[in-house]
Amino acid sequence: MGEPKAVTAALLRATLAELPDDRPRYLMGVGHPSDLVTYARLGIDLFDCVLPTRLGRNGTVWSDFDGQRLDLARRALLGRGGPILADCECVACTKWPLGAIAALYQSRDPLAFRLASMHNLTMLGRVAGDLRRTVLYTADTSSMLRVGKASDW
Ligand SMILES: [Zn+2]
Repeated sequence: MGEPKAVTAALLRATLAELPDDRPRYLMGVGHPSDLVTYARLGIDLFDCVLPTRLGRNGTVWSDFDGQRLDLARRALLGRGGPILADCECVACTKWPLGAIAALYQSRDPLAFRLASMHNLTMLGRVAGDLRRTVLYTADTSSMLRVGKASDW
């Protein structure tokens, strides 16, 4: 953690080459949406990270799948209608306008931390689901070596 991403990728390539192909590969501390995609393409199967909830507790929500951030402390967000992300199905995006969540955050209402965390976790879940479907349903799994049938994964 903390290394430049190019260094992390180089270390992962070297490390993954030494690991057995038939075992899951776990990477701790990576939780940014675009990083999940990058490292999954290198062969990582499992991630865990505090980032989505840490950001949520600090009033930051991802506004796209590249990991663009919105700071709920910004006064400019107050009164803004519409969800954090238009096609997000989380409770924050389906039940609350962005401006209301920003107002909750700026008044230090704990509900804002929960809504922001649920949104970030929902986005990350979508990224993970898309990656899973890509591995399961595409022919090009050369970077993600597996043993057995897809249904056994
Ligand atoms: Zn959402």
